[in-house]
Amino acid sequence: MELVNGQYQLGGVAVLDICNEFGTPLYVYDGAVIEQQYNKLMNAFPNKNMKISYACKALTNISILKFIKNLGAHLDTVSIQEVQLGLKAGFEPQHIMYTPNCVGFDEIQKAVNLGVQVNIDNISILEQFGHFYRDTYPICIRINPHIMAGGNKKISTGHIDSKFGISIYQLRHLERVVASNNIKVNGLHMHTGSDILDADVFLRGAEILFEAAKSFKDLEFIDFGSGFKVKYSADDNTTDIEELGEKLGARFDEFCKEYGRDLTIVFEPGKYLVSESGYLFVSTNVIKQTTSTVFAGVDSGQNHLIRPMMYDAYHHITNVSNPNGTQRIYTVVGYICETDTFGWDRKLNEVREGDILALHNAGAYGYSMASNYNSRYRPAEVLVYHGKAHLIRRRETFDDLLSTQMEVDV
Ligand SMILES: *Cc1c(COP(=O)(O)O)cnc(C)c1O
Repeated sequence: MELVNGQYQLGGVAVLDICNEFGTPLYVYDGAVIEQQYNKLMNAFPNKNMKISYACKALTNISILKFIKNLGAHLDTVSIQEVQLGLKAGFEPQHIMYTPNCVGFDEIQKAVNLGVQVNIDNISILEQFGHFYRDTYPICIRINPHIMAGGNKKISTGHIDSKFGISIYQLRHLERVVASNNIKVNGLHMHTGSDILDADVFLRGAEILFEAAKSFKDLEFIDFGSGFKVKYSADDNTTDIEELGEKLGARFDEFCKEYGRDLTIVFEPGKYLVSESGYLFVSTNVIKQTTSTVFAGVDSGQNHLIRPMMYDAYHHITNVSNPNGTQRIYTVVGYICETDTFGWDRKLNEVREGDILALHNAGAYGYSMASNYNSRYRPAEVLVYHGKAHLIRRRETFDDLLSTQMEVDV
């Protein structure tokens, strides 16, 4: 979003025009930003075999999936429904990675029947898989290297108490299960959680995977997951993608020589690709002055964007309607009967009732974590690309709220 001649534009389209046309609350994604992030990550790595597998739980709208597929990406999924969405969006089954956690064996079998790449993250399921499929269906194995990473305990998956992955300390046991069932392991995987700042954290994890890789002779790829940090507030640091690409890229090529074959290096960014592309636009319903605070109450809340309340995440806020107004301090809150605060003590250009505010960095884990709490409708979604705004999800209606309910008088 940028200020052009005194008005905010997004991908070349005036923000207020988009909000007038589609109403608020409204999620809007800028396709050019997704494209730019994709290219930045691809170009940071010197490796000739590199794949980006979009972790679609961040934002699963089918038009976004198609858009990212057209960039050349593969897809990373964590549920059978995400697999089905990926297939519907046109991804080849073999380009879809299915990385579930604590699902039943029946869901794994469904994924096998759909022909996607299965990633197994516990020994019990691996044994069942081996008994059932033997060497007929190559799989990837998710290793937990136990490197501590991640800005928030809730989104850090590499720690010792984590439920994710097969512990690197179980490697010998893992090898025995693989060997005794003749399982073909075509990939190794790690994903140590969101918000990794330091390239060295990836490198430490990589060394652990390279060491483990010596035990598996049929590898085709190594997948280093994600956790790339993006800028939420102005003084946030971000993962240095260039440094990571240079260091890990070179080390990966060296490893391939040791291993004796060219493998593919894979990353699975979610947030990195889509977070900064997205905004949640909301209208100010009321300015409420209390003894201590000036609240700007808006037509949205934790039902539409829960990250500030669930993770204490900072989402920058801009008053789109009054870019030249005097700056004042506001606490921006939602309309849900909870303390759903989007931002405390924010300096905003004077907010008047009716003004449209933008919540930045709302592309990832925004709509995909939205709910109908308080029986509110979920917002519409718009994708802007090449100067055009496309509605990619309509706003919900009262009928949608009732569509799965049975009206029974008992
Ligand atoms: C959530 C997830 C990702 C994406 O994480 P981001 O922080 O959004 O980049 C990647 N891989 C797996 C297995 C995941 O569960």
